[in-house]
Amino acid sequence: MEPALGIQMDEPMAFSPLGGRFQAEGSLKKQEQNFKPPGVKKDIEKLYEAVPQLGNLFKIKDKIGEGTFSSVYLATAQLQVGPEEKIALKHLIPTSHPIRIAAELQCLTVAGGQDNVMGVKYCFRKNDHVVIAMPYLEHESFLDILNSLSFQEVREYMFNLFKALKRIHQFGIVHRDVKPSNFLYNRRLKKYALVDFGLAQGTHDTKIELLKFVQSEAHQESCSQNKSYVITGNKISLSGPAAPKELDQQSTPKTSVKRPYTNTQTQTKHGKDGKEGSVGLSVQRSVFGERNFNIHSSISHESPAVKLMKQSKTVDLLSRKLGTKKKTISTKVMNSGVMRKTASSCPATLTCDCYATDKVCSICLSRRQQVAPRAGTPGFRAPEVLTKCPNQTTAIDMWSAGVIFLSLLSGRYPFYKASDDLTALAQIMTIRGTRETIQAAKTFGKSILCSKEVPAQDLRKLCEKLRGINSNTPKLISDIQECSSHDPAFSEKTENHKIVHFIQTPQAQPSGNPSYKGDGNGCGGNFEESATNLEGWDEVPDEAYDLLDKLLDLNPASRITAEEALLHPFFKDMSL
Ligand code: ADP
Ligand code: MG
Repeated sequence: MEPALGIQMDEPMAFSPLGGRFQAEGSLKKQEQNFKPPGVKKDIEKLYEAVPQLGNLFKIKDKIGEGTFSSVYLATAQLQVGPEEKIALKHLIPTSHPIRIAAELQCLTVAGGQDNVMGVKYCFRKNDHVVIAMPYLEHESFLDILNSLSFQEVREYMFNLFKALKRIHQFGIVHRDVKPSNFLYNRRLKKYALVDFGLAQGTHDTKIELLKFVQSEAHQESCSQNKSYVITGNKISLSGPAAPKELDQQSTPKTSVKRPYTNTQTQTKHGKDGKEGSVGLSVQRSVFGERNFNIHSSISHESPAVKLMKQSKTVDLLSRKLGTKKKTISTKVMNSGVMRKTASSCPATLTCDCYATDKVCSICLSRRQQVAPRAGTPGFRAPEVLTKCPNQTTAIDMWSAGVIFLSLLSGRYPFYKASDDLTALAQIMTIRGTRETIQAAKTFGKSILCSKEVPAQDLRKLCEKLRGINSNTPKLISDIQECSSHDPAFSEKTENHKIVHFIQTPQAQPSGNPSYKGDGNGCGGNFEESATNLEGWDEVPDEAYDLLDKLLDLNPASRITAEEALLHPFFKDMSL
């Protein structure tokens, strides 16, 4: 991957190595597109129309990714003298906030291009359409290869992920959305790339200047009061009643974006897969970068009445019971001590009678909701994110890396599947223990109430059971276990009490007993597809589970860093 070469915005082509070649080949282009689904073909045509410069340089072949805030296309180009290159074109939704776009770009240009962090080649803009051109990395689907990876490949995968995380964390970038689809892996070439800085935020001392603008919700509030951003040359100016600031914008020489930002169009709806919230077409993407809207923390321009209504809704979430058929673990998260005071809109001294109970009283209903970053995907969110701890650090990415490692060791993806934060938290507690979670939460000012005590699980036993390996007599028992790698180890459909029982009593069903029918949580078999690779899996060293334990440390202050992880004995014979 190469570092940034330049950004091209709205101006005549600085250079056009292909001249009008693609235009001349217009009919061929159309012919080649014929085999594509009509939707994709249309999208490609629309993209050529929206950003005509692309037609001079690229032959857009296919759509390879579609998320809430972008569509990614595979294109080819002959950018320099030499063979055709494959390029990934990321078309950001036109309503993306200019600062958000510029920050994503700055992460790629400043930190990207080495150590497994994706770089950028060009950026194009026409009106409100922005397209980031990156080197294309062909990659595998995590789920497709999960059960065929050798243990050594898993080691290499994790090592390379930590390498990327070390790099971005050194720049004070918190990625906030670390998950397999954002860490591209080419198995054959052993190439890796961390992508998607669309939700990134900066640490207090971040070296990415633009991330200072997407650092806090409070800032978003101050930015959204009819100010406008003007990006000219290497500078970004904030104009408006307060805080006219100028920032150096590195590596973005030809930018000129001016767009007022108001929140009036904002509306939320559920994403099509129910996993992530999505916004309607007319929606302005928040600077703050929130992708999930199941709690209203990103809404900042409402009347108090609306806030109160929304708060009541949130409380419903808080008092929800988990499990579909039977009450299992119910959770409630509160700010404790000082944190409670700062988040409150009613007098801090006002006492209430619901503290440490599983009810929420009217006094608490009138307290202001605490706001904290919650971006990301629920199953990968760290406990401090799920409990809305306002001081979040690069440690949240390490937790997400831990969840990936858990998938790799257990052969289950996604490992946790939850559509809201409290369900996700309860799922974490079933693995890491309720008492341990409650204790850790206290260290970051949160009080969690739990209706039931569940002990922490032994990570090795858990992973071996889920993977279908018996540690006493190492062999595959997948033919007698009814779970598939497609099934999350935890889902909302799952009856938690059964999971808990299943995990707590692995000996209850001796492995190899053909009458054992899985854990009864609805998992289905798919063993022929996985071509399971046993290589190394019969002797997973303790170091693997020690590292996993340190990644899934409930306390962000003691959680292992990327730099430390690279030096962990699990990677003893690997060098940077
Ligand atoms: P989004 O913000 O929509 O999630 P991403 O940057 O994560 O956007 O890209 C979406 C998908 O597009 C990725 O999961 C990956 O499959 C593909 N993709 C993105 N960048 C590249 C790239 N440089 N090379 C190959 N594929 C890419
Ligand atoms: Mg992504």
